[in-house]
Amino acid sequence: MKLHEYQSKRIFARYGVPIPQGDVATTPEEARRIAARLGKRVVVKSQILVGGRGKAGGIRLANDPDEAEEVADDILGMEIKGLTVKKVLVDEAADIDTEIYLGIVIDRAQHKPVMMASAEGGVEIEEVARVTPERIVKVSIDPFLGLQQHQARELAFGIGLRKELVRDFAKVASGLYQAFVENDASLAEINPLVVTGDGKLLAVDGKMLIDDNALFRHFDLAEMRDSDVETPEEEEARRHGLSYVKLDGNIGCMVNGAGLAMATMDIVKLYGGEPANFLDIGGGAQSEKVAAALRIILSDPNVQAVLFNIFGGITRCDEVARGILEALDEIDTNVPMVARLVGTNDQEGRRILAEADMATASTLAEAAQKAVAMAKSNQPVTTGRS
Ligand code: GDP
Ligand code: MN
Repeated sequence: MKLHEYQSKRIFARYGVPIPQGDVATTPEEARRIAARLGKRVVVKSQILVGGRGKAGGIRLANDPDEAEEVADDILGMEIKGLTVKKVLVDEAADIDTEIYLGIVIDRAQHKPVMMASAEGGVEIEEVARVTPERIVKVSIDPFLGLQQHQARELAFGIGLRKELVRDFAKVASGLYQAFVENDASLAEINPLVVTGDGKLLAVDGKMLIDDNALFRHFDLAEMRDSDVETPEEEEARRHGLSYVKLDGNIGCMVNGAGLAMATMDIVKLYGGEPANFLDIGGGAQSEKVAAALRIILSDPNVQAVLFNIFGGITRCDEVARGILEALDEIDTNVPMVARLVGTNDQEGRRILAEADMATASTLAEAAQKAVAMAKSNQPVTTGRS
């Protein structure tokens, strides 16, 4: 889960990272009030979950409250990379001397967090990494020891930071590391960390990615989720505990197990079809979850056929079959469907579906071929067995 700039910076501040004074506004008037309270030049920044806001015109300076209101009026409602701006952060403007990059991610090859710094801050770090990788200094952090002072100093000297700033830099670096660890982040980044005209460090931008699998132990963070970045289908899938990714094809797939879902997509492609989605209903799915999954699949207008591939283990095939019928009672659809159910209670499952005149198949290959044929003609093919 991605956090907004203002959310990330507020978290960083709790760990002693200096951030500008400021607050969030959803209306131009609110932006004016914040600017008036700050009583100085401000920067009005769109809060959307994509980078490069500056270039897109989503970050502007304002000299006084009047101007802050005007600028906020321009930015609110703006479309940046397909997202509509609904909030702006009004921060006191920083007097920027230099811009540094400081970030931390997990290095999967080393099984450790790695902290990176560069004197080329402000710009996209991916670009720096591609063109001038030698301009990025890295240290690997032993998770048992944490970020050590000498490592923070190594980064500071590596980017040519003035000596009198090294101590403050080390504080920022350990604060960022602490924020990263304690919030189960997969990325925490300050870009730019600026050196101000009067020689202080200030985190002007902030970004955090939180590991979704850790949200159960961070209720405060889970509540920060911005549902705007999710489609309604993705949101519904998440609420029901389904893993759902929409794709461009026309064969809707409902499968239990991520590996089986991958294999199902491969087989569909092998027989000349294109999957409309990846959908894993997980183990032990109850009928209402199955019904939600089917509703999500059928809400995609591209779907011309649906393939169920269920391997019964903890998941009971009869339960899945009931879920399918439950969903079909509510949804008026003429999209053809084929089900392959094997494993626990598969006979019962197949009987339930056959009674409802749904095509069934005994192997994945057969099911995939039927689904591909159905999608081509968008007509139910006669069942091979039932
Ligand atoms: P991003 O474009 O989405 O990464 O947004 P940033 O917050 O990183 O801002 C982009 C750039 O705008 C920064 O690198 C700065 O050069 C500039 N900027 C941001 N805030 C201020 C500010 O308070 N004062 C000044 N002078 N420039 C700023
Ligand atoms: Mn930035």
